Amino acid sequence: DERMILQCQITLYGDDERLLMARDITRLHRLEEMRRDFVANVSHELRTPLTVLAGYLETYADHAEALPSRLARGLGQMQAQTTRMQNLVNDLLLLSRLEIDQSGGDHAPLDVGALLDSVRRDAEALSGGRQRITLEVDATQRLIGSEQEIRSAASNLAFNAVRYAGEGRHIVLRWRPHPEGACLEVEDDGEGIDPAHLPRLTERFYRVDKGRSTATGGTGLGLAIVKHVLLRHDARLEIASQPGQGARFRGVFPSGRLVADG
Ligand code: ADP
Repeated sequence: DERMILQCQITLYGDDERLLMARDITRLHRLEEMRRDFVANVSHELRTPLTVLAGYLETYADHAEALPSRLARGLGQMQAQTTRMQNLVNDLLLLSRLEIDQSGGDHAPLDVGALLDSVRRDAEALSGGRQRITLEVDATQRLIGSEQEIRSAASNLAFNAVRYAGEGRHIVLRWRPHPEGACLEVEDDGEGIDPAHLPRLTERFYRVDKGRSTATGGTGLGLAIVKHVLLRHDARLEIASQPGQGARFRGVFPSGRLVADG
């Protein structure tokens, strides 16, 4: 289309002088759109071959006992790496779709408590009993939002807590009132995050400890997805952490996004 995109800056000098600067960022904007579309298309195209590959590997794994042990181990590795690649491609696709579709998709009144309870069960399965995971629901309002997106944000936060908190820790999922509306929280009492990392934590592929994150199965896109989902729900993300004393991730939803239950 023929739209032109300008970035404007107004500077005030004293009482009656203004300086207006405008920069034409149309090209920059187009490039950014092309980048998003490209990532979305590539990740979409990669899904089918990966599914085929995973299917064959699974069939072979069913007959692994017939293979020499060295080959069976290699097969296990191939399956693990294929799963990792599938997770990465799915997260990339989700993230670029969140960026492309600014409208926010289907929104309905959500029972956040019930949603968090099912996320809690998934997190428990991932944790395999290494951590205690509890749910606290004090807010009664429903959230106008996309079930799929909010589930994905909450799962990313809960799975991160499981991955990074360490053994014998306590993880709490909350839906509770907040002066501005209501908030969804995931808190753990694990190692926490050095404050120096906080400003960049939601960037794609930003990790505090790359080796560890890859070993735990993260894609490096989790918090970027969380941030975009919250933005699309007029919410903001607050991260609070003291090294050695855990981390708390909070999405604050404005009252305009809430409806009374019932
Ligand atoms: P990843 O796939 O690496 O988990 P994320 O975007 O979800 O990607 O998280 C980015 C980084 O933030 C992680 O690599 C980890 O270092 C840090 N992090 C996220 N959640 C926690 C947490 N609950 N406790 C400590 N560190 C965390």
